[in-house]
Amino acid sequence: MADDATGSSTALSIQGEAQQETGRVRASDEDVDLYVDGVSDEVLACRERGRHLFPTIRQAGIHFHGVDREGMLLRRLVCTCCLLAVKVEKWEGVRAGSRTRFRRVASNLEYRTGNDGEVYLAPSGRGHMTPRQIGDSVASKALAGQSVTALRKAATKAAAEAAAEKAAADKAAAEKAAAKPVAEPATAKPATAKPAAAKPAAAKTAAKPAAKAAAKPRSTRVRSAKGTG
Ligand SMILES: [Zn+2]
Repeated sequence: MADDATGSSTALSIQGEAQQETGRVRASDEDVDLYVDGVSDEVLACRERGRHLFPTIRQAGIHFHGVDREGMLLRRLVCTCCLLAVKVEKWEGVRAGSRTRFRRVASNLEYRTGNDGEVYLAPSGRGHMTPRQIGDSVASKALAGQSVTALRKAATKAAAEAAAEKAAADKAAAEKAAAKPVAEPATAKPATAKPAAAKPAAAKTAAKPAAKAAAKPRSTRVRSAKGTG
């Protein structure tokens, strides 16, 4: 049971798993940059997210692909993002009366080599990479050649533009709200379109005393006026 708790948490947390494997030594920025250059966008996505994307049971179904020595049922799930991480789950079934209750007893993460030889894990002994380090590296590459001063200037401009846009939107909304009391009675009025539309609605609301309602078309008009107002 306790095994399951730790197993499933490391299966989901790349960071935790990296810590288990290589201790708490952080990879250097240079090593992270090197790694980021060598892997696919999908691998980077899992690294930056700090989490693989395994399908849910409803999505993948519950199928077993083997049995271990203890008779546990083995289930394997491949990360839908990087396609390199494989979650291996152990399931058991326990009879409870006439039924069998199934439960996941353990879960481990394995990595496979991609079709093009791509590997997920960085060379061991270089320290572990946190999602933040990966993000920092990707961002630094994307922003390469740009000065902080220029970026600050552009960011300030963007903020001013967003503020102006919001002010304009607020003003438009306020004007619309101010105009509403006039607009509402006007939209409620289209008497030519209403009767036809009101008929089925009246028949629905007064389904049982249908005969009465049908006999009094006036009452439906009153009702529709109330409803829209
Ligand atoms: Zn993944």
